[in-house]
Amino acid sequence: PQLANQIAAGEVVERPASVVKELVENCLDAGASRVDIEVERGGSKAMVIRDNGLGIAEQELPLALSRHATSKVASLEDLESILSFGFRGEALASISSVSRLTLTSRTQEQEQGWQAYAEGREMAVKLQPAAHPVGTTVQVEDLFFNTPARRRFLRADKTEFNHIDEQLRRIALAKPTVHFTLSHNGKSVRQYRPARTERQHQQRLGAICGHRFADAALAIGAGNDQLQLHGHLAIGDGHQQFNEVQYFYVNGRVVRDRLVNHALRQALELHGQRLDAGYVLHLELPPQEVDVNVHPAKHEVRFHQARYVHDFILQGLSDAVAQLVR
Ligand code: ADP
Ligand code: MG
Repeated sequence: PQLANQIAAGEVVERPASVVKELVENCLDAGASRVDIEVERGGSKAMVIRDNGLGIAEQELPLALSRHATSKVASLEDLESILSFGFRGEALASISSVSRLTLTSRTQEQEQGWQAYAEGREMAVKLQPAAHPVGTTVQVEDLFFNTPARRRFLRADKTEFNHIDEQLRRIALAKPTVHFTLSHNGKSVRQYRPARTERQHQQRLGAICGHRFADAALAIGAGNDQLQLHGHLAIGDGHQQFNEVQYFYVNGRVVRDRLVNHALRQALELHGQRLDAGYVLHLELPPQEVDVNVHPAKHEVRFHQARYVHDFILQGLSDAVAQLVR
């Protein structure tokens, strides 16, 4: 199983940031309201992700580490309308095949926590009791220690850490009510406090995207019975550039899609604006109107009615640009 897992890891685990992405998504799937991330040496030495979610029961721990074990998809139909992030049951198995991974967890019902780690070629799971609050901690050490070719591909600590930082920004923008912290080499780097009030949302947007962006941005809200668009848009003025802030979410997942940039360009051109704008946009639409799992990294989407979606976004952006330049 180790080899199969390592092959799967080739798809899922590109670098430390992909580990953080998978593990944090698991925390969110488990309903965590707080996620703490500690990184050592750009993640190549250690990554510790701690959450206060539901936890994993003792008897489920070995399963969580084995391949294709997921607690999230009960039937094939479920695959059609996945709301949780994970559904392949591959991440933990893959990551543990290319690192030294320990999983420590406790559920509400349990008196104490348990710790699991996979060992050897057969990936036999060892269990031992461990003190832990309700929730889960995953510790990943020495990523790629047993796949030296891939370890050599790791960049400088600073670069790998920047990827992790960016990964967290993407997730934190999608989950405004979750408290995230990130530290590097023992030093606290990010603190994204949960936002409920308008003022807190504004502060969090500033903490994640920069206060210049948050101050310059206009809140967007548009919708019909099928599509909802909300978020923020800021246009650069020659002094300030915002085109590094470009985040597009579809039903809560960050995606790369040309559609938004195309609509944005059109909206800016319509109003005679330079092509420099930053945005955080959330599009909600019925899950059956969009395919999300066309790529293992789950970054790409396919809209069934792409033209319609495009024109809807264009309208929303165009209205926003009109307001911003007024
Ligand atoms: P997937 O997320 O696709 O189900 P993973 O390999 O990421 O697969 O996780 C396997 C299983 O381990 C999950 O289905 C879930 O039951 C459990 N699990 C993993 N991380 C957590 C966590 N932080 N909290 C609770 N359960 C978790
Ligand atoms: Mg997962």
